[in-house]
Amino acid sequence: MDPNSDLKPMTMESEPLTVTCVARARIPTTTGPDIFLHLYANNRDSKEHLAIVFGENIRSRTLFRRRPGETQQDRMVRGAYVGKLFPGRTVADRDEHLGLELQFGDDGDLVVDEHTWHDQKTLVRIHSECYTGETAWSARCDCGEQFDRAGKLMAMDREGDIIGGQGRGVIVYLRQEGRGIGLGEKLKAYNLQDLGADTVQANLLLKHPADGRDFSMGRAILMDLGIEQVRLLTNNPDKIEQIEDPPYLHCVERVPMVPLSWTHDEEGIHSSEVEGYLRTKVERMGHLLQKPLQLHVHD
Ligand SMILES: [Zn+2]
Repeated sequence: MDPNSDLKPMTMESEPLTVTCVARARIPTTTGPDIFLHLYANNRDSKEHLAIVFGENIRSRTLFRRRPGETQQDRMVRGAYVGKLFPGRTVADRDEHLGLELQFGDDGDLVVDEHTWHDQKTLVRIHSECYTGETAWSARCDCGEQFDRAGKLMAMDREGDIIGGQGRGVIVYLRQEGRGIGLGEKLKAYNLQDLGADTVQANLLLKHPADGRDFSMGRAILMDLGIEQVRLLTNNPDKIEQIEDPPYLHCVERVPMVPLSWTHDEEGIHSSEVEGYLRTKVERMGHLLQKPLQLHVHD
């Protein structure tokens, strides 16, 4: 047996991308409504891509599909339940307190009806992991701010809500750090930026594409969640094109993400680095931001 066999990719690149939701859990949040965190496996990489779902009735097809031999307890433990868990609950597919019940076809697939599902336009953000911006308080980019704002907008979006005051929306969280080049290479790119390169030049100097991100994983996850009509929170026209997959998935609206610092003097990120980062997005990557970028330049 080949000793390196487990280092090889699970599948060939040419196979169609498939995603499977392996677990879902309710997360009470410090700032807004409960969210449902979905963890995905796929046949392309071994990364744990995520979907942060606002709304109890947005349901993963692969998570909820009945599996041979599983118990109701198995289903509750992996998060394939309707309504809300409570101590002593024994049935995953029915929540008597809330009067909700799921139905399944002979093949085990979730039956989609108006009680368990919605087909409305859904606010969506496709977000790529950014350790520095989300966790290390970086003012080199606006990823952390965009992530927070997406969550706040979804928490407020109450239209058509069926369960207790929650908003509706999906943040797909893709593990492609540094526009796909990884954290180590991103740190090198930061040093090149401090030496005078812009974000595109720095990636090219390191022999990486200007933007190596791939949003097909995001599209597959949205389709697994049954999202058909997307209101996409983005300034990036490439993302709109990559998400679009008619007739199954359609971007019906682009919701712009205007940096907070442009509209609020006391809020958002004020740094020369983030101004340069945004300027490069507009001038070199075709992002759809309209405010002149010479404002708020700090020495
Ligand atoms: Zn970032």
